[in-house]
Amino acid sequence: MSKKVLVSGGAGYIGSHVTVELIAAGYEVVVADNLSNCDLTCFEGVKKITGRDDIPFYQIDCCDYASVDKVFTEHKIDAVIHFAAFKAVGESVAEPIMYYRNNLVSFLNILEVAKNHGGCNVLFSSSATVYGEAEVLPVTEQTPRLPATSPYGNTKQMCEDILRDVVAATAASEGVVKGIALRYFNPIGAHPSALIGELPRGVPNNLVPFITQTAIGKRECLSIFGNDYPTADGTGVRDYIHVVDLAIGHLHALKKVCSGTGLNIYNLGTGNGYSVLEVLRAFEKACGHPIKFEIAPRRPGDIATCFSDPSKAKAE
Ligand code: UDP
Repeated sequence: MSKKVLVSGGAGYIGSHVTVELIAAGYEVVVADNLSNCDLTCFEGVKKITGRDDIPFYQIDCCDYASVDKVFTEHKIDAVIHFAAFKAVGESVAEPIMYYRNNLVSFLNILEVAKNHGGCNVLFSSSATVYGEAEVLPVTEQTPRLPATSPYGNTKQMCEDILRDVVAATAASEGVVKGIALRYFNPIGAHPSALIGELPRGVPNNLVPFITQTAIGKRECLSIFGNDYPTADGTGVRDYIHVVDLAIGHLHALKKVCSGTGLNIYNLGTGNGYSVLEVLRAFEKACGHPIKFEIAPRRPGDIATCFSDPSKAKAE
């Protein structure tokens, strides 16, 4: 069993929820984060929720090999859950070098350091974006990946491939790296304590934080990106999974990775698709007041519909 887990990007949205579940399940956790897209609010929330004031925290950039090496020298790391990455599709189109450097170099460093310290188990945060606009829905893990339409999407595909190659190459080496890639659909929601949640810096790119910030008056109006898609109400359809369910998926993956050979891949979604309008209406109902919205042009790179077949994760 993996006992000590390094969570890179552990101060961020998904990382903080995963840290809570890991600690609740009895794992020791080390958090590394460069705070590039969050502050310490969620990490402080994690400490409150878990009642643990002693979670080791490294404010480091995983692109710096020596910093990652220091963490592995100071802790016997059994597994890494690698969240630390840039994730804004539009920004990646504008700043490809920054995205490739950050998302690839940080992961390469994690893998190389892990290998050099005797090997470990690695969970990689991949994304449904690797499927692109699939011809057949829902998408299974066998659905072919389509060429990425953004540098961000490309980094997810490339990191999956890097992990696959490293797992294969280290199987018979001193430092065995075992790996699982988890393809997230659309994580939303927050821990029931509300001490942690999705708090991106600046204007949110994702739907739900934009809705929540509009609901509390921080944003004027939600722009719905397109109402002329070939969907029931014309707005985009996605598979929204609660972040705590997603976090629990990581606990199961950690157990699974120990016995695995080769790169194993799992979809983490619910299998249900909901439209932007359905999400908005549900949110209005839950918070008891209307939320201002307007119909805006389609967002470049968006697809009409994407939802998962999560049966592999459920079964295994
Ligand atoms: N969306 C929207 N307005 C926003 C943000 C997102 O209408 O301000 C739509 C987007 O076009 C997509 C869905 O909400 O259909 C989910 O987008 P998000 O960026 O959250 O996730 P994605 O599936 O693109 O990774």
